[in-house]
Amino acid sequence: MAGIYLHIPFCKQACSYCNFHFSTLLKYKEDVLQAMLLEIERQQDFFIEKTNINTIYFGGGTPSILSAGDINRLLAQIHKYFDVQVDAEITLEANPDDLTLEYLLALKKETPINRFSIGIQSFVDADLQYMHRAHNAAQAKACIEHAQHVGFHNLSVDLIYGTPTLNATQCLQNIQTVIDLQVSHVSCYALTVEEKTELASLIKKRKKEAPTDEAMTAQFDILTTQMRAHHYIHYEISNFGKEGHFAQHNTNYWKGIPYLGIGPSAHSFDGKKRYWNIANNAIYLKKIKTNEAHFDSELLTETDKYNEYIMTSIRTIFGVDIRKLQHDFEEKYVQHFLREIKLFKTKNWIEENNGIYRLTDKGKLFCDHISAHLFIEN
Ligand code: SF4
Repeated sequence: MAGIYLHIPFCKQACSYCNFHFSTLLKYKEDVLQAMLLEIERQQDFFIEKTNINTIYFGGGTPSILSAGDINRLLAQIHKYFDVQVDAEITLEANPDDLTLEYLLALKKETPINRFSIGIQSFVDADLQYMHRAHNAAQAKACIEHAQHVGFHNLSVDLIYGTPTLNATQCLQNIQTVIDLQVSHVSCYALTVEEKTELASLIKKRKKEAPTDEAMTAQFDILTTQMRAHHYIHYEISNFGKEGHFAQHNTNYWKGIPYLGIGPSAHSFDGKKRYWNIANNAIYLKKIKTNEAHFDSELLTETDKYNEYIMTSIRTIFGVDIRKLQHDFEEKYVQHFLREIKLFKTKNWIEENNGIYRLTDKGKLFCDHISAHLFIEN
């Protein structure tokens, strides 16, 4: 079992908070697609062991700028060089303004896309304007209805909480809208103001208000309570899914399953090494063209592997399994974990059940802090 991630590094406009790799120079789209087709061929022996691909994820950037034909070209190349399971989860990240009825019909008729991850972020116009999103509230709602009308029912929606333009009542309405539309998977992200983003600069110049920790905490509580009341399982710190609707691709990441990343800035993991592609479209194109290395890599040490296991598993409902720690790592790692986790059990941030250590609701607010304490320095 393994995944393939395709990074489509283009967006029509820049959202103010974004620090992902993308360019608004859409005229290079075809060049990048050609390079990605070549990269797929070059990476045909990437996986250490022969494996089936059970998830393919078009991320970005904005993959919904691709036509059905573009998507099929990339998928055909993957099928040429890899064994893809017939029931593979094939996700397209999409922006609401791209998901017109016409586009959705073309994707349904011509491609095997069977899941959408839609960047809704909010159903409040002022909130969308604060984030400088390209869509409005009406488009946000309409695209979900259109997708369902066309026959796409495996939908995930992204929501952002904690913005100064979203109050508690609107936060509740945002999540209720998703619930009422019977969307089976929701990813909720706190607005983080990353350095060197437009939002950071506007806040510094006092042209935009900064988010507050109090609003973040209160809205996270609203979201988790409401989702649980409607039988969504909080299976990862930012992700909620109905039974049977967890995101397979991301779950594979959190379970340490290998994946190959294609395209500028895409990351890969083969079980032993991590790789990251150059996050610059022009240099990526040049390196692929001249067949030079288009990525950097690092071999994971035992300590890296331990830290990664802690970081990914503590975030999820699957938790840290003491038996896996004992099986996969030397005793010193197990002892370190057991020593450090005690404090968090006392604080009621962690609960243990049959050797599995999981975050409590209170602990979910301190996930990064807990992970940092459990890590070991190299
Ligand atoms: S659409 Fe996504 S990738 Fe593009 S600028 Fe907005 S947040 Fe960033």
